[in-house]
Amino acid sequence: MLINTIKRLVMSAILFASLLAAYHDVQASEEADFEVIMLGVGSPPPFMNRFGAGTLIKAGGKYLLVDAGRGVTQRLWQMKIPLGRVDGLFVTHLHSDHVVGIPDLLLTGWLSSPFGGRKGNFNVWGPEGTKSMMHHIRLAYQGDVDIRVKDQGFSLENVTPNTVEIQAGLIYDQDGVKVTAIEVNHGELIKPAFGYRVDYDGRSVVISGDTKYHPPLAEAAKDTDLFIHAVGAAKPELLASRIAWKTILNHHTEPEDVGRIFEQAQPKMAALHHYVTLTNGQIKPPTLDDILARLKTTYSGPVTMGADLTRFVIGKDKVIVIPPK
Ligand SMILES: [Zn+2]
Ligand SMILES: [Zn+2]
Repeated sequence: MLINTIKRLVMSAILFASLLAAYHDVQASEEADFEVIMLGVGSPPPFMNRFGAGTLIKAGGKYLLVDAGRGVTQRLWQMKIPLGRVDGLFVTHLHSDHVVGIPDLLLTGWLSSPFGGRKGNFNVWGPEGTKSMMHHIRLAYQGDVDIRVKDQGFSLENVTPNTVEIQAGLIYDQDGVKVTAIEVNHGELIKPAFGYRVDYDGRSVVISGDTKYHPPLAEAAKDTDLFIHAVGAAKPELLASRIAWKTILNHHTEPEDVGRIFEQAQPKMAALHHYVTLTNGQIKPPTLDDILARLKTTYSGPVTMGADLTRFVIGKDKVIVIPPK
């Protein structure tokens, strides 16, 4: 009887402690001055559980978004982040799976509702070609813009892109938040393509963008706090079936090579996203477990297999990973 009571008390204490720990983690994230949220870890396939490319970095009061793929607006608002709150969009390259969400972010973020509310220009940084893309995206919706200006009295400024085409190097430096563009190698016809490094208060985050195996990226990410890398994988049978699969895979980094990059960079936390897992429908795509097993043959440090809405709090001496609910 007494033993049972003690057991129950101990169990309650354990439960309470774990709830408290979870609460503190959430608290830590609410108060964090440097946090990363994976909004979408997918690639072109229109999956419900993996939205398009999009990573939000909250640093020193700035909300910076790297890429705006499919569904980025839903994920932002799911996190109760108004679309108009995004201070800047950083485009890695112009493949559609990284930019197809831009019109939605531009035009829905312009609305005066709680989910919108942009004040000022829509700020975009990206490779050569980004200016033309933004110009034409804006023009494509001229009818909607005209109606809303006349009908609702909206200010044109808030739906006007302010686009900067970048070179590798420091491209943003505001309120102690620095963004550096790192040129990566996504293939001969997709140049330039960039990864980004965000530095704030002695801590940093690096996002690879889409790239082949590119050792200079490891140098740029050396000793970073959080290093997020894209990955591509296919079963050998698929690669043997048609040359086209090999061509696609050649634009990306396979798990063993991602491991080599992580091993060289030694981040406090490594993470994967943008899963390019090829399939023809008959030959199944590699699973995340397959990818992790291959990665671990070349990398022995901590790694997170990212999912939509995985959060990372970049603390002074450690990175707290908060899985999606
Ligand atoms: Zn991509
Ligand atoms: Zn790409």
